[in-house]
Amino acid sequence: MPKKETIVVVGAGILGLTSALRIQERADSKTEILIVAREFPSDRSIDYASPWAGAHYRPIPATTPQDIKEHALSRVTYQLLKQEAAVEPAAGIIFLDGFDYLQTPSDAYVELRGGYAEIDGFRLLEKAELPEGSVWGAKYRTWCLNSPVYCAHLLRKFVLKGGKTKRHRLNSIEEAFSMASDINTVVNCSGFGFGDPNVFTTRGQTCLVSNPCDRTITQQNSDGSWSFVIPRPLHGGTIVGGTKEPNDWTSEVSLETRDVILQRVATMFPQILNAEGKFDVVEDIVGRRPTRRGGLRLEVEWVGEADASRKIVHAYGAGGRGYELSWGVAKEVVELVYGDKTSKMKSSL
Ligand SMILES: Cc1cc2nc3c(=O)[nH]c(=O)nc-3n(C[C@H](O)[C@H](O)[C@H](O)COP(=O)(O)OP(=O)(O)OC[C@H]3O[C@@H](n4cnc5c(N)ncnc54)[C@H](O)[C@@H]3O)c2cc1C
Repeated sequence: MPKKETIVVVGAGILGLTSALRIQERADSKTEILIVAREFPSDRSIDYASPWAGAHYRPIPATTPQDIKEHALSRVTYQLLKQEAAVEPAAGIIFLDGFDYLQTPSDAYVELRGGYAEIDGFRLLEKAELPEGSVWGAKYRTWCLNSPVYCAHLLRKFVLKGGKTKRHRLNSIEEAFSMASDINTVVNCSGFGFGDPNVFTTRGQTCLVSNPCDRTITQQNSDGSWSFVIPRPLHGGTIVGGTKEPNDWTSEVSLETRDVILQRVATMFPQILNAEGKFDVVEDIVGRRPTRRGGLRLEVEWVGEADASRKIVHAYGAGGRGYELSWGVAKEVVELVYGDKTSKMKSSL
């Protein structure tokens, strides 16, 4: 049977991989799905965010329309990962207890609007359960995953189901239409987009340690900074973090920052330290979260000089929540690719 169409997914990060898999499920046998990317799982580049993520899920109170939308996307991901963790141990996903400790919580936390309440096993912590300095805390069941292992797993699934890949650095999103002769749809999962003025980086410095950990903990410190521990399943160690630095393009590791990160987590959760009271540092991590003012861009753009008959589905700018939103985003990408949703230009979420 002759091939009729190729759908190109630009990007092999978490959004490109999940979107490509969902499109593959929906496509007929005459459609080829091609991932075009500069980097693929197992590559290491500061501009390729996915391998650097913790990664875990942490509910947040949903007060703005964007938060509410993201909350819905994250619920889709939560349910999907629950199923996946049960049947695919090699995917590198586990469910475990998550703890939040906040020193200066906003009203949204105190009034607990949206977000948390629907999460499995959620309960507010008693005062006696809070570490010194924290005034608000919660416990819930969450997932965490080993991001490099998980991305490699998704790519393997895609290729085994007949998906194609091509390593190529595109100069523009329009160039993706030239990757084959029969392309009418391109999905833009390039992380930072192509020249979008609303996109910026949020630098993240963390530390991978081999000290084991049986929970995720996220603490908001009194100066507004965050401390966290996120185990990486399948003997991947534990991510200890970390910074969130908007518009900071520094690629070098700051040893001073590393000391602050480790010291704060040692105070927050001394049980993680080894018999000598130390961390066993494996490596320092610096990554760039592809962040977008106004939130993730998830919409269709029609292009083409004569008749605007070619479709670009944009799905980029997930900031610090790419994994959390991924399967929800992929579901919406499929709806946009196949036209189930109104295809109009509008400003993101
Ligand atoms: C330290 C740190 C911790 C994090 N922790 C978490 C967490 O706990 N939970 C969570 O949900 N998220 C977390 N994140 C955020 C998460 O990593 C990102 O949101 C996510 O990886 C973004 O995925 P993406 O697919 O959009 O982009 P990326 O992973 O950056 O992938 C972009 C893809 O597009 C390709 N590409 C880009 N430009 C071009 C071009 N010109 N031509 C061809 N290909 C191109 C790249 O090669 C790559 O394949 C963390 C991030 C960092 C840095």
